[in-house]
Amino acid sequence: MQRSAVIAFCFGLLALPAAGFAQQPENIVLNDKDVKQLTPHVWAIYGNPNIGIVVGSKGTLVVDTGLGKRNGTTVDAVMEKLRKGKLYLATTHFHPEHVTGQSGFPADTVVIRNIAQQKELEESGAGMIDFFRSRSDVNKELLVDAGIDKADILFDNEMTLDLGDVTVRMVYFGPAHTNGDIVFFVEPEKVMISGDIVQNKFTILPIGTKTTIKGWISVLDRAAELKPALILPDHSPPGDSAMFAEQRAYMVDLLAQTQAAKSQGKSVEDAVKVVTAELQTKYPGWLRPGNATRAITMAYKEAP
Ligand SMILES: [Zn+2]
Repeated sequence: MQRSAVIAFCFGLLALPAAGFAQQPENIVLNDKDVKQLTPHVWAIYGNPNIGIVVGSKGTLVVDTGLGKRNGTTVDAVMEKLRKGKLYLATTHFHPEHVTGQSGFPADTVVIRNIAQQKELEESGAGMIDFFRSRSDVNKELLVDAGIDKADILFDNEMTLDLGDVTVRMVYFGPAHTNGDIVFFVEPEKVMISGDIVQNKFTILPIGTKTTIKGWISVLDRAAELKPALILPDHSPPGDSAMFAEQRAYMVDLLAQTQAAKSQGKSVEDAVKVVTAELQTKYPGWLRPGNATRAITMAYKEAP
């Protein structure tokens, strides 16, 4: 397929998955019916989180697993109907809904992670699983036998996976939402599976021990240089590269307004109140507005 035809295919389907997504944005139990083909080689399972499946002529890559073994088994069943060749699994970051379904995959799955993400998983994964268990009975049940899994292939900053007629670049740009988040860039379609690094009108949640808002903005800028035609984020609907400018504007505003509040002598608590209200007026309807508390608190610490 010609590149222009591939890109047209992307945009032609763009309206459909977003409409389907709106019905079940918070579905922690993934449903094998919520599957959409986005481009010739890329499928998504919409849920919490969205799962990416890239099918090439010689191999298949699944990105993220869902929460716990049961969701991993659902993802595996969807993937098996599409699968060609060797099976690879990679994860956007170490949080439980992205990694703990690994045990639901076949034993011969080749698991790939960047070193920073695997380190963070081993250092902080167990605590995060306990936190997720405490959030609801459903989570507790899904995570009943969850543990910290290994990877078969570890890479430092970048690795390209050749799946035959499609390739996937996996790139680590540095700490963003967590210390170890990566993006996936699928060619020839120019689809980015972006995890939490860039999302669609979704309030940022800076949570890594090495995360700074300024650092995340520079990660955002480097990811934008890949110029994706279609972006599949993990907790919001798919969109196009306008997502970069929107999220960047939000982050720059958040930093500037927090810095102004701090320089006026406001406490961190008052800065959270004032800046949250300003952001909600300027960016109405963004998902997970409660995340702003953590983001503004971090921006306050970063401000001179
Ligand atoms: Zn996360």
